[in-house]
Amino acid sequence: RHMSVKATEVITALMKLGVMATVNQALDVDTAALVATDFGFEVEQAMHAELEVEALEAMEEEQGGEALPRPPVVTVMGHVDHGKTSILDAIRKTDVALGEAGGITQHIGAYHVQNAQGGGITFVDTPGHAAFTEMRSRGAQVTDIVVLVVAADDGVMEQTKEAIAHAKAAEVPIVVAVNKIDKPGADAERVRRELSDYGLIPEDWGGQTIYCETSAKKGLGIPELLESIQIQADILELKADPSRKARGVVIEAQLHKGRGPVATVLVQEGTLRPGDNFVAGMFSGRVRLLSNERGERVKAAGPAIPVEIQGLSGVPSAGDPFMVVTDEKMAKAVASARQLKARETELASASKVSLDNLFEKMAEQDMKELKVILRADVQGTLEAFGQAAENLSTDTIRVHVLHEGTGSITENDIHLASASNAIVIGFNVRPSVKVKELAGQEGVDVRAYDVIYHALEDIEKAMKGMLEPTF
Ligand code: GDP
Repeated sequence: RHMSVKATEVITALMKLGVMATVNQALDVDTAALVATDFGFEVEQAMHAELEVEALEAMEEEQGGEALPRPPVVTVMGHVDHGKTSILDAIRKTDVALGEAGGITQHIGAYHVQNAQGGGITFVDTPGHAAFTEMRSRGAQVTDIVVLVVAADDGVMEQTKEAIAHAKAAEVPIVVAVNKIDKPGADAERVRRELSDYGLIPEDWGGQTIYCETSAKKGLGIPELLESIQIQADILELKADPSRKARGVVIEAQLHKGRGPVATVLVQEGTLRPGDNFVAGMFSGRVRLLSNERGERVKAAGPAIPVEIQGLSGVPSAGDPFMVVTDEKMAKAVASARQLKARETELASASKVSLDNLFEKMAEQDMKELKVILRADVQGTLEAFGQAAENLSTDTIRVHVLHEGTGSITENDIHLASASNAIVIGFNVRPSVKVKELAGQEGVDVRAYDVIYHALEDIEKAMKGMLEPTF
C-alpha cells in the first residue's frame, strides 16, 4: 500500500487515538511501519468507530431509561488465615437459589446470592487486596462494599491494616466480620477497640461501622452478615439502568481448552444478552453463551450480575472495561484501535531514559531519580563527579550514582544500565566498538566527556528541560 500522507496527518491520527507524537520525535521503525500500514484503512476506521461509540453513548445518555436499585458488589478482604475463603464458602451455601437448583458452584471469579428476603448480593470471590488494587490500578471500580474479616483470636494484623488502607483509598465503606468467635481465645471486644484506632468505630460506640460476629466454620452469624451488607447497601442507594446496552468490567479471563477464551464480566450498567457484540479490553467478540456461577445458561445478565461469556477474539485482563456496541464491525474497529494504542504505550514506556528524553520520562513515568553509571580514568574524577552530581539533585529529581569504577566502560556496565534504566557517563574513557553496539541494541545512553563541568552542564540542562516544560 502506498503511503502518501503528510506527517501532520499521521500525528493527528495518532493524537486522536490518544498517542502523543511530535514531528521531531523519531518514530521507531516498528511504530512507523504500524502507522504506515494501518493508516489508510484501519486507523481511520478505528477512529471512526471510537467517534461513533462516543456519539452512541451520548445518545443513550439522553434516551437512558430509569436508574433502578441494583444489588451491591462486595469484596472480602483481611489478613491471611483470618477466614476470607471460609466466609465466602459459608455464604455460598446459604444461597437459596442454589438450594433450589442443587447445582454445583464453580469458580468464575464472582458469584451472586439471593437471600430469603429476595435481596441479592454479588461477591467477588478472589479475596484479598491484590485483585482489588490491580483492578483499581486499571481504572476499574468494581466494589461497593468491603467486608473486612478479622479473626477474633488474632486481632488486627499487617494485612488487616493494608486492607483498611486500600478500602479507604477507594472510598469504599467497610463492614467488619469478626470471625472465629467459636475459638477459645476469641475477643471480639478487643477487635473493636483495635479497629477503632483506624477509624472503624462501631455503631453502638457512636460510630458508623457495622460489625458482625461470625464463625465461618460453624456457620454462625452468616445471615446477620448478609443482612448487615444489605443495610450498608441501602445507605449507598446503588442504582443502575438495566435498559441500556451492557457495560461493565472483566473480573477474570483465561484461555480454555476447547472453549477458547472465556471471561467473567460483571455487568455494571444495562443488560447483557447472547448475540450482543462487544469489546472487552483490546478484544472484540459476540456473546455466544452466557452462563452463571452454577454453570447454567442464562438469557440475560443485568446490573451487578457476574456472567461467564464465550466468543472472545482473545483473552482480556482483569479490570479491563467491557462494552456492548452496535455491530461486529464497530467492535472489531474499536478493539484494533485499542491494540494500536496499547502498543504505542508499550513502546513509549519500553524505551530507556537518556539525557535527551529525561524530562518526558519524569513526567510520563513519575521518575524521581536519574541513575548514572560512572567510569573514569582516575579515582579522583569519580569522587569529584559524585559530589557535584549529588549537589545537582533537586526536590523533584535526584542524581544517583548507581555504580562507579575506574577503567573503560564494560559490557557489564551496559547490562546493568539497561536493567536499571540508567545512563552511562565516561570521563577520559571511550566505549569500545563492541560496547557501543551493545548500548545501541539495549537503548542505553552512553556519554563520553573530558571535563566534569561539561557533563554536569548537560545533566543540568536535561533537568531544566524537565523543570520548565515548554508548552
Ligand atoms: P483466608 O486465608 O483468610 O482465606 O482463611 P481461610 O478461610 O482459608 O481460613 C484459614 C483457617 O481458619 C482454615 O483452617 C479454616 O478452617 C479456619 N477458619 C476459618 N473460619 C473459622 C472460624 O470461624 N472458626 C474456626 N475455628 N476456624 C476457622
